[in-house]
Amino acid sequence: MPRGNLFILSGPAGAGKGTLRKMLFREMPDLVFSVSCTTRERRTGETDGKDYYYISRDDFGRMITRGEFLEWADVHGNYYGTRKSDVERVLGEGRDILLEIDVQGCRLVKSRKPDAIRIFITAPSLDELEDRLEERGTESRAQLDVRLRNAAMEMRHAREYDHIIVNDAISRAGGELIETVKRYREPEQN
Ligand code: 5GP
Repeated sequence: MPRGNLFILSGPAGAGKGTLRKMLFREMPDLVFSVSCTTRERRTGETDGKDYYYISRDDFGRMITRGEFLEWADVHGNYYGTRKSDVERVLGEGRDILLEIDVQGCRLVKSRKPDAIRIFITAPSLDELEDRLEERGTESRAQLDVRLRNAAMEMRHAREYDHIIVNDAISRAGGELIETVKRYREPEQN
């Protein structure tokens, strides 16, 4: 059985990655979302086991030692990681999986899985990002500043990706993301 496709979605906080990803999954319910482990606190509205596995720093450390992560990174002062066994199982079953991870994680995955398809979501400008993050209101001022500094760094890495989608308008950018993923999943139709 042919192995599934591995998609990586990255982009700075506030670019609208989460919203676009949800549009993609509504269109493609058979695509598997890779649920990462994180040491950050659960936000209101998030579900353990669906958005993330929320684990302690000690448990995260033990998983690193046991080599359980395909990749992991310190993002905004918290640890985030993708479990190797989850990804291998899905790909082995011939199903497609999407990892929503940062640029550091993307590099690691690409070095281990050269066929990974990398998609970067960005906002039209850094000013726009700042506005969107402030509107979202999920972070304190200090957290917001960390995320903005990281956003500038992440945007410099956009060129490493196979596709860059500028989220200027949700429905247009969502359509572009869906079309981009479709091209890999249904190559015979292109
Ligand atoms: P948030 O805390 O806003 O959910 O995510 C913060 C950042 O961590 C986002 O850029 C997200 O893509 C990234 N991230 C989430 N899960 C993982 C993961 O498993 N590995 C890595 N390297 N980054 C992740």
